[in-house]
Amino acid sequence: MRISDRIDEVRSIIGRVRGNGDSVGLVPTMGALHEGHSCLIRRARQTDDFVVVSIFINPIQFGPGEDLEAYPRQLQEDAAVAEELGADLIFAPTAEEMYPPDFTTYVEVGELTDKLCGALRPGHFRGVTTVVSKLFNIVSPDRAYFGQKDYQQLLVIERMTRDLDMPVEIVACPTVREADGLAVASRNKYLTPEQRAAAPAIYQALQKGAEAVKSGASAKEAEEMVAAQIENEPLLELQYARAVDPRTLAEPGSAGPPMLLAVAAFAGDTRLIDNIVVEE
Ligand code: AMP
Repeated sequence: MRISDRIDEVRSIIGRVRGNGDSVGLVPTMGALHEGHSCLIRRARQTDDFVVVSIFINPIQFGPGEDLEAYPRQLQEDAAVAEELGADLIFAPTAEEMYPPDFTTYVEVGELTDKLCGALRPGHFRGVTTVVSKLFNIVSPDRAYFGQKDYQQLLVIERMTRDLDMPVEIVACPTVREADGLAVASRNKYLTPEQRAAAPAIYQALQKGAEAVKSGASAKEAEEMVAAQIENEPLLELQYARAVDPRTLAEPGSAGPPMLLAVAAFAGDTRLIDNIVVEE
């Protein structure tokens, strides 16, 4: 496995891979690799001939006061994990390599990004779609792998690739969870033992909401049920509990499935998100 921090080097490696007629899979990450990332890398390994894992803590998707400085950085450990899973190349550029001082071009998806996390983190999705566009241009993957844990991000990236005719297939992988249901996330490392013990209440609330939706509950009823259960946990501070149309993220047209239940909550300073899609 190779590790590169240079765009030109990655391009020339990919050029040789493509010259052999091999397919390329890309798994974009911010590092601190965990089981959620491993699942994406394994899936890429099963499907594509050459697997690239990008590790880049993208400064332009963090807002003021968010955890850019504190975000875990552990390239050597991540490289060992990726190699063990059979990745062929790690692309871990510096911020300067990705964003030269006179960088001024951004990619922005409309409407979908005004909702849920987008409404509370202005500029976040613009940062995500810009960096993912750059990664697609650098790596030119046949397929790129994203987790459903970040459901809105997945939808935004699917829309971007469709709207801009990007020749890449987006592959969605289900959310990987701890035994107690907490969605695995790099930020879980920040949790104190008490916060960690409280955090599974998010998924429990989502599951209860999902059961209600399956029995025909309206979006408002589901939102109130999920919110009440999370608000019951003193160590969690609910940011939002929403029940929306899983394709548009707008108000659902009717009660019952299909519905996306999505939650963001703070445990201390740590922001946790999770979701369940209740299929039709
Ligand atoms: P991140 O490093 O947090 O930017 O995440 C990189 C990719 O891993 C994104 O596509 C995430 O949706 C995905 N991911 C993160 N956590 C999980 C999880 N628990 N299950 C599945 N995918 C995940």
